[in-house]
Amino acid sequence: MNSMNIHDKTFVPYISREEIEKKTALLGRQISKDYSGKRPLFLAVLNGSFVFASDLFRQITIDAEISFIKLASYQGTASTGNVVTAIGLEEQVDGRHIIIVEDIIDTGKTLHEFIPSLLQQHPASIKIAALLTKPDALKFPVQADYSGFEIPEKFVVGYGLDYDGLGRNIPGIYQLATEDTL
Ligand code: 5GP
Ligand code: MG
Repeated sequence: MNSMNIHDKTFVPYISREEIEKKTALLGRQISKDYSGKRPLFLAVLNGSFVFASDLFRQITIDAEISFIKLASYQGTASTGNVVTAIGLEEQVDGRHIIIVEDIIDTGKTLHEFIPSLLQQHPASIKIAALLTKPDALKFPVQADYSGFEIPEKFVVGYGLDYDGLGRNIPGIYQLATEDTL
């Protein structure tokens, strides 16, 4: 197998660009059908989701808008715990159908803490599109409404996802190598 090294670690091919392309097209068709006439606002969470968001968005065949946001975490009050808010969100969320675009849902913590702050802006609806989910790693009640691939609890890079800054430009997805995958 064509393994590759990033920093100090070895990664092996896991999901090919062709498989991702097929899946993205499928998700795009589903979303276009579900949101017909609703002009959804996609919120792509930077940095990781920029590649997926770009491919998914071009599969959308209905009127739709997209905005790129960064999530910033800070300590809330005792009752709110950690709070995550969006930086760079200029669109009015009030009354809009929101589709959050994530590269990967791991524990679910980030979105679990972000969604309350989005709800305060009274969107008409919120759904989540995630290229990857790790069901075994999930610790918070967050579920992707549109999910590309369910993967085991293993670190992956490529297609926007990085390992310490590198690997985002790899066209497919690679998995951290273990004894049995090398
Ligand atoms: P969560 O809040 O769901 O635990 O974590 C989500 C974030 O953790 C993702 O948006 C991503 O930035 C990072 N993450 C989780 N698993 C992986 C992984 O396997 N590879 C990479 N590159 N990032 C990951
Ligand atoms: Mg991310």
